[in-house]
Amino acid sequence: MGAGNGRKVRTVEFRRDSVNVFFHILTACNLSCKHCYINPNAHGTQTLPIDTIRAWMDLFAARKPSANIIFLGGEPTLHPDLPLAVRHARHCGYQSITIDTNGFLFHDILDRVTPDELDAVSFSLDGAEACSNDRLRGKGSFDAVLQGIRKAVAAGFGTSVIFTVSSANLHELPRMPALLQSLGVDRFFIQVVGRRGKSAIETEIGQTAADLWLDQVPRVAEEAAERGMTVTYPKVYLDPDEPFECAGKVADNVFIFPNGRVYRCPLCEDHPLHSLEIVDNRLRERPPITERELFELDIPEGCVMNRLIQPGNIVYGMDGNPLHRIACCMLKQELIS
Ligand code: SF4
Ligand code: SF4
Repeated sequence: MGAGNGRKVRTVEFRRDSVNVFFHILTACNLSCKHCYINPNAHGTQTLPIDTIRAWMDLFAARKPSANIIFLGGEPTLHPDLPLAVRHARHCGYQSITIDTNGFLFHDILDRVTPDELDAVSFSLDGAEACSNDRLRGKGSFDAVLQGIRKAVAAGFGTSVIFTVSSANLHELPRMPALLQSLGVDRFFIQVVGRRGKSAIETEIGQTAADLWLDQVPRVAEEAAERGMTVTYPKVYLDPDEPFECAGKVADNVFIFPNGRVYRCPLCEDHPLHSLEIVDNRLRERPPITERELFELDIPEGCVMNRLIQPGNIVYGMDGNPLHRIACCMLKQELIS
């Protein structure tokens, strides 16, 4: 049973065979988070008109009708026509519909859609109190998120919180389960910061060492599940005998950006490696070399893109082999309450 309204909330899935459509309908945002992954050079700066949003949703619904769709930005609630997009997603038959928000909930979005139309509202929160969260996400964002969560829970929406773990906030993670339980949040997603967008150049934001991660994250996940939430978290550091899989081969995720780039792997998003693109409202495959060719590489370090863009989290033993293989960031553990 969820901590909030007792329902099993349907939303994004991070499993083998899962199908997710991450749709960035704009890149504008009212915040300027230190670890923001949006890169205007790679993703564009457009706000897609509603007719284009509908046409692109049709493309991906036709490709895989049972996908989960997640509306993102930038801040997607800045788009005045987001309620129309949500309704069209339901009309297309998407399995679940989620809005990812920084909590400011512009254009009175929760008054303009209903819990029947929208499966989940997902809030980004990176600290258990205002000073820690706002240092990363901007002044006032903690209060805005808590206010937004309370409003969403009271109105009967399914809710989730995404906490992005970095060296700057790992110490805050153990306090999150109690906070989220008190707010009535249904689902808790723990994710690891990736070195992309601003976090690729922001020295304050680093990845956590393997021993710290393995010591703390699974324990916090278990506590959150005991408190009634469904918890999703990445293992990150695989033991040598654990199987490694790349979601680019075993799942079907697409990350759509307003400039028409469509990636299958989020770690590729700073680079022109997208395997698909939308041109004139048509989806087409791009010729090699793209991320697709990288998915086929088999290396002792596990994830190829991790090895290329953030090798600092790989530790090698005396024999020259990595102590851990790095797991795919799109394939995660799930604890059901
Ligand atoms: S709320 Fe999201 S899109 Fe906006 S600055 Fe923060 S990470 Fe970037
Ligand atoms: S993060 Fe690594 S393992 Fe996952 S899809 Fe990308 S390249 Fe594959």
